[in-house]
Amino acid sequence: VVKEEIDKKPHCNVGTIGHVDHGKTTLTAAITKVLSEKGLTNFVNYDQIDKAPEEKRRGITINAAHVQYESRLRHYAHTDCPGHIDFVKNMITGTSQMDGAILVVAATDGCMPQTREHLLLARQIGIKRVVVFVNKADIVDDELVELVELEVRDLLTEYGFDGNETPIISGSALEALNGSHDKYGSKSIMKLIETIDDYIPTPTRDITAPFLMPIEGSVNITGRGSVCIGTLLQGTINKGQEAMIMGFGTEIKTVVSDMQIFKKSVPQCFAGDHLGALCRGIKSDFIERGMFLCQTESFKQWDTFEAHIYVLTKAEGGRIKPLLHKYIQQMFNKTWNISCCVLLPEDKPMIMPGDTATVTILLRKPMILVEGQRFTVRENDITALTGVITKTLP
Ligand code: GDP
Ligand code: MG
Repeated sequence: VVKEEIDKKPHCNVGTIGHVDHGKTTLTAAITKVLSEKGLTNFVNYDQIDKAPEEKRRGITINAAHVQYESRLRHYAHTDCPGHIDFVKNMITGTSQMDGAILVVAATDGCMPQTREHLLLARQIGIKRVVVFVNKADIVDDELVELVELEVRDLLTEYGFDGNETPIISGSALEALNGSHDKYGSKSIMKLIETIDDYIPTPTRDITAPFLMPIEGSVNITGRGSVCIGTLLQGTINKGQEAMIMGFGTEIKTVVSDMQIFKKSVPQCFAGDHLGALCRGIKSDFIERGMFLCQTESFKQWDTFEAHIYVLTKAEGGRIKPLLHKYIQQMFNKTWNISCCVLLPEDKPMIMPGDTATVTILLRKPMILVEGQRFTVRENDITALTGVITKTLP
């Protein structure tokens, strides 16, 4: 296959999730094995995946293997984490993006606590579709496999996925890895790959959503307004369109009277574009880095939200002492920081470094917040915690 042909295939990010020992790593290896037999991929064996190197991203130590493979239709980057806490950290920090997840459930065990926890986290970070592989079908009766399928459908529905429509494939990752070509061997793996091709959509930048651009900086143009600079996160802006500048609890109406990309005037900008937007009648001293240029009547500012957080250990650049109720520090986002107060759940008087929790966070000033958005909370040169916004609260 020539390189240009590879590059033409759309790219998709996936990862294996599920309870420890259910066969995530075996399945990852089996996928590369079966696709290598089709001449589409290099085989990556179990040991190479399982001894995933320690990665340090944002100071946090995560063990994660990144495996690449190709189906007939797409190119994939696949993340497999060895330990439960690595999965959780990976999902909270967004270190490896996942457009869809492969949930592995061993037919011998059925749904287990980490099956639930990974599914919940997947939902919270905005993964919309999962494909299920009921593994170890080689060592149980077919009736049990069917029972586990029903159990998984219920769990999917409970966590807000489409329990009826979600495809479930059963098979044996181990048999496939050992070279079996029967129904639970490579056939089940091929079926899984075709299902992923089909059910997990290729990520696209959302140009139809209301437009939203975090402001990185601004320049005053005397007599005309201010140019807001940033990268459009989502949506489309048309020249002459009404817009809002919102953030830190304030908001003001304006009109985008001109837009430039690489110093050239353009009539339209799309998600992903880095642009300067001339906002009519706005003085640049009104605009603060971290505010948003956004579509009118589409966004709200919030000062309370629920988050899933991970408290860093000292070795990761975090605290030595546990986090207590009403912990107050600065919350940092891509472009803004505001002081915040972390409220712990009633049944959890403290969170130890290295531990995770679902908490409520109050901001000193309201801000546009998006579910799935990542943040850190820092005290001086320590990163106390990292988190993902799971729900905005009134
Ligand atoms: P992980 O913790 O989810 O990554 O699980 P592993 O892939 O490390 O597998 C855990 C154990 O289950 C290993 O001993 C595997 O050989 C075994 N295993 C994995 N898949 C299968 C399978 O399809 N059938 C059987 N019988 N054993 C399997
Ligand atoms: Mg593993």
